[in-house]
Amino acid sequence: MRHIAIVGSGPAGYYTAEAAQKQWGDDVSIDIFDMLPVPYGLIRFGVAPDHQSIKGVTRRYEQTALSNNVRFVGNIKVGQDVSVAKLQGLYDAVVLATGAPRDRPIDLPGDHLGNVFGSAGFVGWYNGHPEFAALEPDLSGKTAVVIGMGNVALDVTRILAKTRDEFAGSDIVGHALDTLMGSTIQRIVILGRRGPHQIMMTPKELGELGHLSRAAPRVDPQDLPDLDDDAMLEPGIRKSVTHLRSFAAIPESHRADLPLEVEFDFFAAPRGLIGEGKVQAISVERTRIEAGRAVGTGEFYEIPADLVVSCIGYQTSPIAGVPFDERAGRFANDQGRILPGLYCVGWARRGPSGTIGTNRPDGFGVIELIAQDMPQAGRKSGRPGFDALAAERKLDIVTFRDWKRIEEAEQARARDGAPREKFVDVGDMIRAIGQ
Ligand code: NAP
Repeated sequence: MRHIAIVGSGPAGYYTAEAAQKQWGDDVSIDIFDMLPVPYGLIRFGVAPDHQSIKGVTRRYEQTALSNNVRFVGNIKVGQDVSVAKLQGLYDAVVLATGAPRDRPIDLPGDHLGNVFGSAGFVGWYNGHPEFAALEPDLSGKTAVVIGMGNVALDVTRILAKTRDEFAGSDIVGHALDTLMGSTIQRIVILGRRGPHQIMMTPKELGELGHLSRAAPRVDPQDLPDLDDDAMLEPGIRKSVTHLRSFAAIPESHRADLPLEVEFDFFAAPRGLIGEGKVQAISVERTRIEAGRAVGTGEFYEIPADLVVSCIGYQTSPIAGVPFDERAGRFANDQGRILPGLYCVGWARRGPSGTIGTNRPDGFGVIELIAQDMPQAGRKSGRPGFDALAAERKLDIVTFRDWKRIEEAEQARARDGAPREKFVDVGDMIRAIGQ
């Protein structure tokens, strides 16, 4: 029997478990650890609450979770409750599937000012991550600036723009919905340091911005390259640029009656945040593109900003004792191998890119590596060994069955039409198990 510990119960974790089952059938035992009592990581806390169809992928993970040789070990902080070294002593292979939950720092003068958030915090707030539930962004100003032109910037913009009706069927948490519905924001500026041809936004997600009830996105036609130049773009980006062109063609008269402005500011690199205590403006330098890079032109201007959300990418959280590549913001690894017996997968391996499905081949790849490193079944104690340790340390494990009770309780307390009302406090999650 091979004993595998997977740390992290998001997409990369479950795809890795699925791959291990395919590889070794009944001859493998898999424990999936999570620091929280609830599974699914990015699907629960990262994917936007109004993208329920994407969240449907958890049905597949649940199938894996319910099979005999896989178990969920929730509420266990690896690196704190149990070290990676200890897990390595108990399991033949330890796979870190911990994602990239921290913001890449924006590192600007004034980034400590109030009402300046990274997307990890802001997204965590509206998705009910226990660490960020108490964020309390102040939406009583007029202008929000969203930094970055990736899909997270789109998520944040859309969430700030939607009406209560547009959240129907979503699982946005109650505290965020209440705050958003009291928002007085009239203008959202999406700031990109490069141009329309360099956006990271995918077509489907960008297209959604064209269907908001309170706003029609504004793109300055002068920022768009010649139409002929689109031909050299990779098809996905070309479609996204086509959306930008259609936004640029929306007549101003159409916007006149809409209460919210959403505008793209290209060739605009943030240089500093200005304010006293709380942010009031952002200083921006006009850029031009040289060899694909944004280069400052020396022309500066300010945009009033009562809220700033920086959506510039994520990094993995280091774990004590595990080699970490600080520059890349992920575990130091070669194709997923950190050391024989210790691996990483998904965003913790390759950084925050790609779609949820990209993690599936990643999971299969790491299991192939483990199979190469360990052609014979190992001799570690695995699950019984961990259970003995957990009993000795009085660790309060949350099982998959416990999670299903939490899920039932969340479904029972959902507002009308919503799939669930998430608990945002770990204590409340644990209490729901006992009810
Ligand atoms: P991303 O796609 O890497 O986009 C990051 C953006 O931030 C880029 O526009 C980048 O510009 C900009 N940026 C980086 N550093 C900056 C700086 N110092 N100053 C100004 N701008 C800066 O990252 P993401 O939006 O966080 O998304 C992460 C991953 O999750 C992506 O693979 C994304 O597709 C995925 N995702 C998917 C969905 C969905 O499918 N619905 C939703 C959310 C996220 P440069 O290009 O100039 O560096």
